[in-house]
Amino acid sequence: MNYKKIKLKPKKEESLKRFHPWIFSGAVQHKDNDLNEGEVVNVYTAGNDFIAVGHYQIGSIEVRVLSFEEEEINLDFWKRRLSTALELRKSIGLLSSGNNSYRLVHGEGDFLPGLIIDVYAETAVIQSHSVGMHESRTIICEALKAVMGGTLKNIYYKSETTLPYKAGLGAENEYLYGGKDVSEIALENGLKFYPDWVKGQKTGFFVDQRDNRALLEKYAENRKVLNMFCYTGGFSFYAMRGGAKLVHSVDSSSKAVMLTNKNVEINFPHDDRHEAFAEDAFKFLGNIKSNDYDLIILDPPAFAKHRGAIKNALQGYKRLNAAAFDKIASGGIVFTFSCSQAISKEMFRLAVFSAAAISGRKVRILDQLNQPADHPVNIYHPEGEYLKGLVLYVE
Ligand code: SAH
Repeated sequence: MNYKKIKLKPKKEESLKRFHPWIFSGAVQHKDNDLNEGEVVNVYTAGNDFIAVGHYQIGSIEVRVLSFEEEEINLDFWKRRLSTALELRKSIGLLSSGNNSYRLVHGEGDFLPGLIIDVYAETAVIQSHSVGMHESRTIICEALKAVMGGTLKNIYYKSETTLPYKAGLGAENEYLYGGKDVSEIALENGLKFYPDWVKGQKTGFFVDQRDNRALLEKYAENRKVLNMFCYTGGFSFYAMRGGAKLVHSVDSSSKAVMLTNKNVEINFPHDDRHEAFAEDAFKFLGNIKSNDYDLIILDPPAFAKHRGAIKNALQGYKRLNAAAFDKIASGGIVFTFSCSQAISKEMFRLAVFSAAAISGRKVRILDQLNQPADHPVNIYHPEGEYLKGLVLYVE
């Protein structure tokens, strides 16, 4: 295709030969005049061999690779990529009568850098993290309709807070398709919830904790559960189905507490085992008594949003986990997570180790958790790995 061109400096094609999907600005020798942000460009080696086609953007990552083959990025391309993504989810049994919520596209993990698509029952929520994906939203919407057939009634576009610069992109959140008579309830492992893509965080629900919630359900029987950072209460309603004695949910946002109550109520109407509190996590943990709980979930927001914040983030994880170890009943279980991409598994484990050492409790690792299969990690792009967790037994 006759796209504008970018030429790399000598030897800068090495990572591309290993299918890494980003081209940093330092690798670029020459680019055509008048490149518009978000447009598709062909990338050539210093020796003028074609190496990749991708979205151009001003910034440290100048090109996000869409394909390593010389091909046209047209409706057919988008349909192929989306149907490959859907087939993967279907082939691993993710779509079932009890589960209609899943991530259809996980950026680089589905060979579409900068694009997230989450599906909740009849609604897909598209989120762009690059100008190229933003500019492509109409054609992506068209491809999505074609690939999903009649199962999709609404497509909501939500990129107001995820694009690099808001100015001038017209990135307002809106329905690109449907939007009338939207069915509000979605299912995860047979449990109901209201995904709130319009007002909620991210695309409206954290689908990445699906498998970890299912594991928690198995541990919950007869336990007194404290779900810290509950957001929409996912872990809480699984704990209730698992036979917990009581479940307390805590989030500093009163909107989150409201959503949690709504989601618990729709699954377990008038069940007085559950109570939710709008409070700061550290304050709440400070005020509880030892032995109040024997299963505590710690799923805080990303403490390190970038590499510069790693040191403080590790302190935060240490403090939080130490507070839980300090109070949990003997024989208790802690589900502890970090969703910071900048914090590696090893760093997180070290922070939790330090917390355990401070508390002086005997702590053992029962399970090691990560992101689920609909958030795949492209092996050539390890940066796609972000969610990590530990299940701990505290004596
Ligand atoms: N566990 C949730 C996702 C957690 S997202 C799930 O399964 O869906 C992180 C949540 O932490 C957000 O809802 C945010 O409002 C809340 N939060 C952030 N800082 C907090 C604090 N200091 N104390 C309590 N909650 C906090």
